[in-house]
Amino acid sequence: MAMPAVGALSPYQPGKPIEELQRELGVSEVVKLASNENPLGPPDSALRAIADGLSDLSRYPDANGFALKARLARHCACDAAQITLGNGSNDVLDLIARCFLGPGRNAVFSEYAFLVYPLVTQAVGAQSKVAPPCADGLGHDLDAILALVDEHTRVVFIANPNNPTGSYLRSADLKAFIEALPSHVVVVVDEAYHEYVLDKDHVSALSWIADQPNLIVTRTFSKAWGLAGLRMGYSVSHPTIADLLNRLRQPFNGNSLALAAAEAVLDDRDYLDRAINLNTRGMAQLRQGLEGRGFGLPESAGNFLCIDLKRDAMPVFQALLKAGVIVRPVANYGLPSYLRVSIGSDAENARFLEAFAEVTAGEESVGD
Ligand SMILES: *Cc1c(COP(=O)(O)O)cnc(C)c1O
Repeated sequence: MAMPAVGALSPYQPGKPIEELQRELGVSEVVKLASNENPLGPPDSALRAIADGLSDLSRYPDANGFALKARLARHCACDAAQITLGNGSNDVLDLIARCFLGPGRNAVFSEYAFLVYPLVTQAVGAQSKVAPPCADGLGHDLDAILALVDEHTRVVFIANPNNPTGSYLRSADLKAFIEALPSHVVVVVDEAYHEYVLDKDHVSALSWIADQPNLIVTRTFSKAWGLAGLRMGYSVSHPTIADLLNRLRQPFNGNSLALAAAEAVLDDRDYLDRAINLNTRGMAQLRQGLEGRGFGLPESAGNFLCIDLKRDAMPVFQALLKAGVIVRPVANYGLPSYLRVSIGSDAENARFLEAFAEVTAGEESVGD
């Protein structure tokens, strides 16, 4: 009896939870580098705000998220009326699909783009048009994306940096692409990993919204802000789009603890700086530990690295699990030879490198 598009959906495959592996293997020391979570743990500023909010849990949250939106408006240099809050930014991506897509319409995105884009597109009965990646790697080819846009296109999804590839589009190129899109298309720039970008010419797509009424920028507290378990994300857009999304939104899609914690952590610049520094250091540690072994190590602007094993990655994933290290296979992204590894703490990275070296011992010449 279900809608055909729903029956054809493949469920999102999350990273394996630590407790699940502990149960299955009876191992206690598990390292999880599978969901791009923040190795610092949650910020103390957030924990204090949550503790303060506990006694009010019998009350509904503020359905309009007034305080958080006011704080975000300062953070993003925009108006509160431009903000839509979501139960994670995935919730906002879903709202965007429900708002602009449906049967007879299509969404355009790149191959190897974040899997939530086809999910939310298909769920509302719209068509996904998938552009080939750039010729020299896994990154997005903006010309190829533009070429797929037709009169039935209503949404273009672009994650910058992209997950799982880590590929990054230079701000000037992305801006020119957005300016070239026809006016019947909404473009979503998903900035889940924006805080980690080190490119000195990087600017957030937020700065283009004033001139681009069809641009939606999504952000999250799940990655660099260390609050993945709380579920809080948001978009910034023209107020007319925010108003439309707000009509579709469940009134209490952000819980009271998440609202309070997100507001508090935006003042915690120190936590963010520590997260970024740890990530920069960890990325170097992983790259250095993997270098010279013949594996493909594409550049990554995020808090993860997609390693090309140049053979079926599944046995390596399984062997790492047995060693108590959870990483992420990305065959469901069309990348069966890759494993995605999140940047962890120094000790977690070392543990991964050690297990990975053991599991792949003797494979130095594979592929090259
Ligand atoms: C992790 C991630 C998100 C954020 O998900 P939340 O629902 O906010 O936890 C969004 N987009 C991309 C590309 C991601 O990797």
